[in-house]
Amino acid sequence: MIPTCHRQVEIASRSDVGRVRSANQDACAALENADGYRLLVVADGMGGHRGGETASRLAVETLHAAFERDFGDPDTFLLRAFRAANDEIYRMGSSDPGLHGMGTTGVALLIGPAENGWVAHVGDSRVYRLRDGRFEAITADHSWIGEEVRRGRISVENAAQHPMKNVLLRSIGVGPEVEISSAAIDLHAGDRFLLCSDGLWSEVDDAAIADLLARESPKDAVGALVDLANARGGADNVTVSIAALIDKNAPPAIALGLDGPTEVPDASRGTHASLGAPLLGAPSGSPDERPRWKRPVYVVAGLIAALALFWRVCA
Ligand code: CA
Repeated sequence: MIPTCHRQVEIASRSDVGRVRSANQDACAALENADGYRLLVVADGMGGHRGGETASRLAVETLHAAFERDFGDPDTFLLRAFRAANDEIYRMGSSDPGLHGMGTTGVALLIGPAENGWVAHVGDSRVYRLRDGRFEAITADHSWIGEEVRRGRISVENAAQHPMKNVLLRSIGVGPEVEISSAAIDLHAGDRFLLCSDGLWSEVDDAAIADLLARESPKDAVGALVDLANARGGADNVTVSIAALIDKNAPPAIALGLDGPTEVPDASRGTHASLGAPLLGAPSGSPDERPRWKRPVYVVAGLIAALALFWRVCA
């Protein structure tokens, strides 16, 4: 039985070549199927000019095709789709000398119509989650540098400049088998998820990503984040995809809070204040931000006061 969909999901994606590279080897997609499931995918290809573009495109196309034609059990969908992508990229890389050795990272978020979601990834593309003001990566990079940082051998600060920062421990399509990290996750109304290639997180610090993710609509945030990555050098292709979950059954004040940036503290009231402040349900200070259902009450109260004043003047 298909669970009742009680949530709206606002999604936006953007991919950009950056300021240095001549081609964009990233690829992304945001899809929805007839059962109310949404799929976001980001892939970052490697293996020469043509190989990188081909591998990331094949990964996204294979997940797209599986999503539309072979969705099946959502608990196993991402694993099946990632394995299919690995098979396809490896097969093509093995048969075409010009594409030999190509591969790609892959990160995907599957959003169910109810409270369930799923995440899978290979490589160093990431998924971040912003929930109740807390921003964190929910994927762990399959990279040499990521492993060193987790073991405490290299600091996060030194990792950013390390000559081996791009060495991946896992990628899709370079071998006949691939090890995929995947997990089922719970979804809360108000959650915001951000998928990205390393072209974003290597140029833009977590605090700046969290700030824009909290303050802007998904459409504005993806544009602002790509622009920021480019402003800070744009050394790599950069791809960002955002999904914001909105609860259709939420009270008006909460729903309005997700519609625009006015409910979330902005930088002028303290940079990154949103990191420590609740994203949802923040009380509004100005009359324009009052929930719409309260406005008729104020009108009636004003009329009663005017009538009382008129009666006193005439009496
Ligand atoms: Ca990259």
